[in-house]
Amino acid sequence: MNAACTRAGRAPESVTLLAVSKTHPPAAIEAAVAAGLRSFGESKIQEARAKIPQCPGNLRWHFIGHLQSNKCREAVEMFSLIQGVDSLALAQEINKRAGQAAKTMPVLLEVNVAGEASKFGYRPEQLLADWDALNALPRLEIHGLMTVPPYVTDPEKARPHFARLRELKAVCEARLGAPLPHLSMGMSGDYEVAIEEGATIVRIGTALFGKRQYGALKATSEAAD
Ligand SMILES: *Cc1c(COP(=O)(O)O)cnc(C)c1O
Repeated sequence: MNAACTRAGRAPESVTLLAVSKTHPPAAIEAAVAAGLRSFGESKIQEARAKIPQCPGNLRWHFIGHLQSNKCREAVEMFSLIQGVDSLALAQEINKRAGQAAKTMPVLLEVNVAGEASKFGYRPEQLLADWDALNALPRLEIHGLMTVPPYVTDPEKARPHFARLRELKAVCEARLGAPLPHLSMGMSGDYEVAIEEGATIVRIGTALFGKRQYGALKATSEAAD
């Protein structure tokens, strides 16, 4: 990350390393905390519900999955940032639940920059169409944009998608008349390119924790339901 920042002429502290801890047990998170990490990403509400109480209390948790409207109340309680907001209906539900919890909820809007049929995320045109309505929600704080580009083995192929997200953020900022602090983009395979293209949050799982074993935490999550 430091090398990528140097190449891009950016300050290393301008990029947050979000440790994506989904499927990994509290012990792995404790080890990451001992190494200095404080921000963790989870993509399932039921897994987070079981895991977060077993982890140190001074951490920042980001929700990075696809949020269902019936899980918004819990997401607002557990997370300091909800990254995957991709429709006005979901934003309205988060706004309502944040109001009930007497807080404002920081969010990132997820954009499907490549227009992949299989992916969640706003189409760029739809994001711009909803932009004023999203900004009118009083309990929502829009902190920026996030994307998961198409999977590629050559990280250079992801670069145009990262650049597109950066350009879209600039369009949103011009409409808003204010800066948006965050661009969440880049994962284990392509975070260096993402930093060169302006990422302020990189979401890294495999490169920190090793391969995910789906199902390994199932027993804990189910016990908590
Ligand atoms: C799982 C996940 C990641 C982490 O991916 P790695 O390739 O393991 O670094 C990042 N972002 C999102 C949205 C994810 O779901």
